[in-house]
Amino acid sequence: MLIAESDGNRIDAFTAERGPTYHCPKCRGEVVLKKGRKVVHHFAHKPPITCTWVKGETRAHMESKVIVAAALKERGLRAELEFVVNTLPGDRRADVMAWSPKGLQIAFELQHTPIGIDEIERRALSYARAGIAQIWIPFLTSRVWDGGVPRHGGWFVERYSPRHFERWVHGFNGKNGMWMYDPNDKAFWLGRLTGHQTYVEESTWFLEGGEENYSGGFWKYSKRFKELTLEGPFKAEDLLIAVSKRRAFSTSRYHWPAARIANLTPSKP
Ligand SMILES: [Zn+2]
Repeated sequence: MLIAESDGNRIDAFTAERGPTYHCPKCRGEVVLKKGRKVVHHFAHKPPITCTWVKGETRAHMESKVIVAAALKERGLRAELEFVVNTLPGDRRADVMAWSPKGLQIAFELQHTPIGIDEIERRALSYARAGIAQIWIPFLTSRVWDGGVPRHGGWFVERYSPRHFERWVHGFNGKNGMWMYDPNDKAFWLGRLTGHQTYVEESTWFLEGGEENYSGGFWKYSKRFKELTLEGPFKAEDLLIAVSKRRAFSTSRYHWPAARIANLTPSKP
């Protein structure tokens, strides 16, 4: 984690000094300040670790939060790491919370691990009800690079099997597309999913009596695969934030609440 408490104050691992005793804001357990040369500065629980906030935490995830918060602060916005929103279900921390100059809150959810549809829908609804704009950013995985090719200065994956929450995020964002984060390059890509067609082979057979029958011989949209087009890479500091509103919409699988959504736009063409 990046934020701990000392004498009742929130302190981030970058400004924290060795010496004082630090506590986890969640479980109140003592945490140790880690300031390495290669690893992002953070706090670590002492074993045995039972705290729910440690679950699924990775260095890449911590690093992504630091990168986003630093880019926001760089342009003069208030930004807080691991900001607690009391009305959020489950883990109450937004990865990064930013404030627009007019005071609108914008939550960044950097999704390094898959999240269940029920959970993402509850969380999204909770942000929406609190009037907090939100942006969900899935992490890119190696299968994107292994399964794709360069195209139009970006990247193209012809047969991409999106994770459920990625389908949800893509639907939530509508025409904005879906921003994704590459933890290796520490860069952002704008992703769009479109239908992938597969060819159903033609086959012929004969009924009794010699009547000829055909099947197949046409293209159909794959349920499993989508085509993924990635535009990028972009560095966090080159992306501007815009907030818009979307309406509620449901399909048989997904429910998207009416919400304020944040979108990123490259500041340089
Ligand atoms: Zn804890």
